[in-house]
This record gives sequence, structure tokens and C-alpha cells, in this order.
Amino acid sequence: MLFASCNTGNIAGLAGHLRAISASGWQLVGRLVHSGTATRADGEIAITVTQHILATFGTAVFRQVRGIPDRCPDCGSYKIGLWRPADSAAGAEALPACQVCDWIAAPVG
Ligand SMILES: [Zn+2]
Repeated sequence: MLFASCNTGNIAGLAGHLRAISASGWQLVGRLVHSGTATRADGEIAITVTQHILATFGTAVFRQVRGIPDRCPDCGSYKIGLWRPADSAAGAEALPACQVCDWIAAPVG
């Protein structure tokens, strides 16, 4: 589902990129784990590669789960963040909102 929704966003080829970095990272770390000659530097590279993959997937999943659009549907601004309206109930979930105009996403449910 994540891969399918990535192909409808503004980043063309994001799903392919996620697949590619996953496959490449898995292969690299797998080779390192089974290598008898791996060095500390190789291990540090593997950790960095894994961090990059997790951060990239985390951003994609977070945007999808929270329904954060790439641009404001009203003014087209990229300044979209999560906002909790002042009149919302305590513990209410923050909603995607534009920092330029007054657009705010409707609460889900
Ligand atoms: Zn806006």
C-alpha cells in the first residue's frame, strides 16, 4: 500500500527509490554480516545505510498515515505542518495545516 500511494504523490519514482534502497541496503548489510574480512569502517557504513533507509521510509509512512499533502490544496504552499487548533479538545490529534493561508485538514472520523 505504501508503494502504491508513493506513485501518486509529487515525487515521481519514490516507490522505486524505496524499493531500490531497501534491496541495496539489505544486500550490503547481508554481505557484511557474512564477511570474514569486514572492518569497523564497513560496519559504520552499514549502520549509516540502515539509518538512511529507516529515515526515508519513516518520512513516507508518516506523511501517508497523517494525510499530509505535499502542497497546500488552497494556496499551493509547501509550508505544511501539523497544527493543533486552539479550540480543540485536550489530547486532540494535530492536523495538517498550511502556515501561509488558513487551510487546515478536516479531522478524520
Ligand atoms: Zn495554504
